[in-house]
Amino acid sequence: MLGDGAYPRYEGGVFRPPSEAGSLILQVMYGCSYNRCAFCGMYRDRRFRIRPFAEVKEDVENLDPAVKRSTARVFLADGDALALPARSMLCILGLLKAELPGLERVGAYANAHSLLRHTDEELREIHDHGLEMLYIGLESGDDETLARTGKGATSAQIIEACRKAKRAGFALSLTAILGLGGVERSLEHARATGRAFSAIDPDYIAMLSLMLVPGTPLAEAAEQGGFVVPGPTAILRELREIIAETDVTNAVFRTTHASNYLALEGTLPEDKEAMLAALDWILANGNVIPLRPEWLRRL
Ligand code: SF4
Repeated sequence: MLGDGAYPRYEGGVFRPPSEAGSLILQVMYGCSYNRCAFCGMYRDRRFRIRPFAEVKEDVENLDPAVKRSTARVFLADGDALALPARSMLCILGLLKAELPGLERVGAYANAHSLLRHTDEELREIHDHGLEMLYIGLESGDDETLARTGKGATSAQIIEACRKAKRAGFALSLTAILGLGGVERSLEHARATGRAFSAIDPDYIAMLSLMLVPGTPLAEAAEQGGFVVPGPTAILRELREIIAETDVTNAVFRTTHASNYLALEGTLPEDKEAMLAALDWILANGNVIPLRPEWLRRL
C-alpha cells in the first residue's frame, strides 16, 4: 500500500544498509528481482515489480522543501535497483539532481545478474549520472555454499559482476555471511570468501553472522536437521580465516552489524595483523571477551 499522503510513499518494510541510515530512502522498485535465496526473508512479502517513473517523480517533486534542501544522500530501494533498464535509471538520477540541490551521493543494492545484464557503457553512464555506491551480497565465495543456499550465482559470476562495476567507477561495499556454509562447510566457506574478496578488491567489506529467519527454506532445513548453524567459536574461527585469506588494496572491514558476536572495525591490509592477533588470542583464551549474547543479536 502506498502511504498516508506523506512523501516519499512506501510499500511494505524498507531495508537499507547501516551506512545509509541518514539517507533519504526512495523506492524505485518493489522487492527483489531474484527473491529465492534460502536464508533471506527481506522481500518474501511482496511481488517484484518496477515502480512507474511517474510515481517516483511525484514522490520526489512533492517532498517537503526542507527535506529537499537538506538531503545529501539518497538510497534507491528495494533489493536490486539495477534491475531497472539503464534509461529509467538515468531518468531517476536526473530527477534527483534537479530536485535536490545538496545531493552528494546515491547508493543502491545490486545483484550480480543485473550488473552483468548491463553493458559497460550503460554502467559507466549510470555511474556518471550520480549512482556511485553499490552494496552487493557476495554471501560466500564457496560455490558449494552458494548452490546449497540457492544464491543463483557462482562466485565467478559475482566476481565478474563486481569487477565490471568497479571498471565503471562504482564504489563497492560487499557483504558476506559468517556461518552460511553450516558446520559442514564452515572453513571452506570462510577461506573461499576471503579469496573472493581478494579477487574483487572492494572498498568496504561488511560481515554479518547467520540468523535463521522463520519461514525461509534455510530455517526449515535447520528445523529438520539438514543444516546446522556453527556456534560462536566456529563463527569467530571463520572470521579469522576470512581475514587471513583477504588480500585487498584498501578496504574498510567491519563486523559491527548487530547480527555479529564480536564487533571489529579496521582497514585492510593495514590492520590485518592486529585483527588476526586479536582473534587468535580470543580463540586461544576461551570466553575472556564477552560476545554479544544471542538475545541482543538481530538482523
Ligand atoms: S539475498 Fe538479496 S538477492 Fe537474495 S533474495 Fe535476498 S534480496 Fe534477493
